[in-house]
Amino acid sequence: MVLSSVLGFPRIGANREVKKAVEAYWAGKLSVEELSKVAADVKKASWTSLQARNVDLIPSGDFSLYDHVLDHSAAFNVIPKRYTGLGLSALDVYFAMGRGRQADGVDVPACEMKKWFDSNYHYVVPELSEQTEFKLLYNKAVQEYNEAKAIGITTRPVILGPVSYLVLGKAAKEASPNFQPISLLSKILPIYKQLLEELKTAGVDSVQVDEPILVLDKAASLDKEYATAYAELSSVAPRIMLTTYFSRLDSNINFIAKLPIAGLHIDLCRAPNQLDDVLTAIKPKNIVLSLGVVSGRNIWKCDFNTAIKQGQKAINALGGDRVIVATSSSLLHTPVTLASEKKLTHQQKDWFSFALEKATEVATLAAILSGSQDPKIAAALEKNTASIAKRREFEHTSDDAVRKRVASITDDMYHRKNKFATRMDLQAKHLKLPRFPTTTIGSFPQTNEIRTARAKFGKKDISEAEYEDFIKKEIETVVRFQEKVGLDLLVHGEAERNDMVQYFGEQLNGFVFTQNAWVQSYGSRYVRPPIIVSDVSRSAPMTVRWSSYAQSLTEKPMKGMLTGPVTILNWSFPREDVSRKLQSQQLALALRDEVIDLEAAGISAIQVDEPAIREGLPLRRSDWDEYLQWAVDTFKLATAGVSDVTQTHSHFCYSDFDDIFPSIQRLDADVISIEFSKSDMKLLHTFQQYGYSNQIGPGVYDIHSPRVPSEEEITKRLDTTRAIIPAHLMFVNPDCGLKTRGWKETEASLANLVAAARKARESA
Ligand code: GLN
Ligand code: ZN
Repeated sequence: MVLSSVLGFPRIGANREVKKAVEAYWAGKLSVEELSKVAADVKKASWTSLQARNVDLIPSGDFSLYDHVLDHSAAFNVIPKRYTGLGLSALDVYFAMGRGRQADGVDVPACEMKKWFDSNYHYVVPELSEQTEFKLLYNKAVQEYNEAKAIGITTRPVILGPVSYLVLGKAAKEASPNFQPISLLSKILPIYKQLLEELKTAGVDSVQVDEPILVLDKAASLDKEYATAYAELSSVAPRIMLTTYFSRLDSNINFIAKLPIAGLHIDLCRAPNQLDDVLTAIKPKNIVLSLGVVSGRNIWKCDFNTAIKQGQKAINALGGDRVIVATSSSLLHTPVTLASEKKLTHQQKDWFSFALEKATEVATLAAILSGSQDPKIAAALEKNTASIAKRREFEHTSDDAVRKRVASITDDMYHRKNKFATRMDLQAKHLKLPRFPTTTIGSFPQTNEIRTARAKFGKKDISEAEYEDFIKKEIETVVRFQEKVGLDLLVHGEAERNDMVQYFGEQLNGFVFTQNAWVQSYGSRYVRPPIIVSDVSRSAPMTVRWSSYAQSLTEKPMKGMLTGPVTILNWSFPREDVSRKLQSQQLALALRDEVIDLEAAGISAIQVDEPAIREGLPLRRSDWDEYLQWAVDTFKLATAGVSDVTQTHSHFCYSDFDDIFPSIQRLDADVISIEFSKSDMKLLHTFQQYGYSNQIGPGVYDIHSPRVPSEEEITKRLDTTRAIIPAHLMFVNPDCGLKTRGWKETEASLANLVAAARKARESA
């Protein structure tokens, strides 16, 4: 019999209960007991609904109040010293590590967060060193297993495996210079053994051990570590289902197949072609194969017939008892249920599956593959076949004009007319910016008034005219402030934008929006990614009226502000019937028109933000070139339509350029602004070493904190920067947009920034 399984479930609750409760706890409005009660109820609801949907292997231990990697660190005593001895409860230490704490005389910043593989989920990075003393402070997997058991539901606990846990960590400050976290493997294994032994004692039959790093190139050199770890663990653990997701195993399957594991899970949504190799490798072993055929990363309805073919192939090779049908990864990256969507059309609803609907999908597929004679199952297959056929039909009704336009893109559309050096002279004459020109990244504080006005307009409590007036006033405030403080290249402040992707998605054809499809980004922060459902095009200018209004208020040059094609794509749920490249090209053409319209409206500097270019990198390095080729090309397609006097800008919120440097140069933006205030000089040396030739604004202060940088501090930053980057190429700007900041610190910080730039000018 083929079993069904779900690898993990969203933690937010159908009505965002957990998010709200956690935030209320932080605000001191909810007690620990009340918070635990909300969490327990949400867990119960998830387990119950998965059981009601006939899922055989239901996860437990995957719930989290903040982040599952942080849960492991807290349980393993991987708690940096700065969080202990503050008189905080264990729960408050946990939250302090996740989000920092500034109250009652305690002031500690948060631990570093990193993107979870290629998703938009962030995990809290474990800090490890030779001094780390692993201890099992509590066993969350056992606790949740028992919680579920108490309501009569047998679950399969989920833990993050030891090799992935260590590799995802980083060397703590006190570690010796060449310290590698993986060197702690022999120290952490006894803790894992204890954890797994306790699970076995609690009656657990099989445990899901996530080892997602097995899909990365670097896992190839960890074969010995894997062999050691799993030999030790399997001797005491319940049956181990080793799970991998988000990409393919490639040659790593050779050593994985030799591990003493009961099962292996592979992602067949991201990497369907790996099935044959994996089947060949595990066939002679006694390993169960869990097929990740229902996507944990996207919201499209599963195509049953494709999944059945894959399942059948696995059954033919291994027999039905050695096959499980599963979600490709945890459903953490999908919203809870389609049932909460009241505004989608019938047709649209029929295209999608959210977490609960996906649970039904795995259960139905398992029943089909087990040869179920239940007429309900036959009906479900028929219904799915019809839905998919309808979707395919819809996909064929492509927008011919858009498709033709993409097909007729010519090479010259990717290039500016002249080389950068020529453009720089022309732009200098046109924009008349001083040396060390000052500017910002785009957004200004999104105050409560702005959010309230937007909400009122959304509910039609105020008219469009009233809302427009309100936004215009906000723009005027921002412009007047920038003039007063003495910035050189102004922005309009982005008050009209709810979000840098949603704002554009809402105005472009081809997108659909949800009301409740929240997906965790980090901690209690959730986003609602738009869904690309068909060919993308622009019916009318999107930002021109705001930018030209802002320009009409001032003699100083105004910078137009757009989100780039790769970022819009990466922060949306993409289509799966056409390539990411085609979707990005369509977005680029729409943005190209916007860029050209802005120029025609008298905007002479235009910024196209691409903060997500880096996170879109495929997990396997051999796939990078292809991605970077189209990603950079589509940025160029979006921006290269303007004349040489118009200055193009781009912005990146990270400082990790080493391995993608040639692509940053190839963007050929006239000016880039990058995160820099928290980075060391190595970053600038990279730019210098490669001979980066265009203008660059390394951020002079961190906008993630309300702290005001002093003029001296900024001057110091500028001095070290100009020792490496030629002064005539430098811009002076903060690290990122100011939307999360208050006005008070914004005013003070920018005044200091301008003063420091002026000083630099005098000494140039
Ligand atoms: N222009 C955007 C802003 O200032 C850029 C945001 C970002 O880089 N994430 O808010
Ligand atoms: Zn940024």
